[in-house]
Amino acid sequence: MSIIHHEPPFSASQLQQRSLAAVWHPCTQMKQHETYPLVPIVSGQGVWLYDADGNRYLDAIASWWVNLFGHANPTINAAICDQLEKIEHVMLAGFTHEPVVTLSERLKNIAPGALGHCFYASDGASAIEIALKMSFHYWLLCGQPQKNGFISLKNDYHGETLGALSVTDVAIFRETYAPLLRPCTHVPTPDWRYAATGESPRDFALRAATALENHLAKHHAQTAALILEPLVQGAAGMGMYHPVYLQRAREICDRYQVHLIADEIAVGFGRTGTLFACNQANIAPDFLCLSKGLSGGYLPLSAVMTTDQVFQAFYDDKTAQAFLHSHSHTGNALACRAALASLDIFERDRVIESNKTKAAYLNSIAAPLASHPKVRNFRNCGMIWAFEVETDDADFAARCFQAGLKQQILLRPLGKTVYFMPPYIINEQEMDWLVEGTLKVLDAI
Ligand SMILES: *Cc1c(COP(=O)(O)O)cnc(C)c1O
Repeated sequence: MSIIHHEPPFSASQLQQRSLAAVWHPCTQMKQHETYPLVPIVSGQGVWLYDADGNRYLDAIASWWVNLFGHANPTINAAICDQLEKIEHVMLAGFTHEPVVTLSERLKNIAPGALGHCFYASDGASAIEIALKMSFHYWLLCGQPQKNGFISLKNDYHGETLGALSVTDVAIFRETYAPLLRPCTHVPTPDWRYAATGESPRDFALRAATALENHLAKHHAQTAALILEPLVQGAAGMGMYHPVYLQRAREICDRYQVHLIADEIAVGFGRTGTLFACNQANIAPDFLCLSKGLSGGYLPLSAVMTTDQVFQAFYDDKTAQAFLHSHSHTGNALACRAALASLDIFERDRVIESNKTKAAYLNSIAAPLASHPKVRNFRNCGMIWAFEVETDDADFAARCFQAGLKQQILLRPLGKTVYFMPPYIINEQEMDWLVEGTLKVLDAI
């Protein structure tokens, strides 16, 4: 039997047309596809995606920030195939299985602090809903039902279901649905792009922390939790901030009896240079939300980790006092095995250390980008790079995406912010390709 790769039994244009007729694509004005064609992907290998015409693209944004160890990773593929022979999925109420138990134990061992109780869902937004509900419910069980408000950072993104959108502050996602959302205070962001001239990132972060303190001094009695994206505000355009903010936020939340929810859905699993972003501030949240890279980016899986103190408040003879939240695919066995394989790779390949060398290499070759006349605020945190492009083009993001494809690079700017979030298996040659291609993109548009 012969299998011919990259020559599928359909043409690219057929697949594009069928997709536009039958698939409502996410985060997309479908009419724009009258101008911009869809890219029909048929396979992937390492950092590369291959389309139906045989073109390849370097996946510089890890397929929406999820992929850690490349496409078709042999270790993760093997783990999923092995699990497939055993049990693909079983409900997690009344049942348990080895992959979900082992994953919970291993996450507990590597997470900051003492987050020994792991609750599962299938996507990031659901993890946020769970953390918000658990926090509120905890205070209710403690006889403080008035603690039902949430605060988040200006420009934060936490997903797009209604609860998650309530604590999100990205206008394009939020404004249309504002009448459906719960009020939420967005306290000043520590993102240093907004610092005054001459003000250091650290001083700016401390100033933002003072604003948080002033808010909670007045409103802590009505506040269940502060939720934030630690160190990097992704959807806001990879806004980066000094870890001192997290230290101060932890102290302030403790002082005012407010939970701290760390949304590490995007930044967890090594993105910021440490396994978790919270590690850089040496703090532990009350709730840690994980998804995206949790399964190596392979399968939909999310988790909310919390403390004994929270868990014990729900532990009672009364069913109604339990956390009755559920999702059909909670703790999916295939996704848990993918996650375990991903954790194996972290250990086997000493990924956190090797990423430091890779990041240093990319920084060493990025000087022409950082000093490009159109580039502002070139910045790096761990395995994330970002910069703003000086342009009047309202269609910049779409044009940059198209120009990127011509250079065989998948770039998907957030407004005028171009960023790289490559899979960690990227090698030096591929980093050269990425930087040189991006320079050509900037010169082309
Ligand atoms: C992506 C993301 C989410 C939402 O995750 P989904 O799986 O897309 O629902 C929440 N918070 C942050 C910080 C994210 O980057």
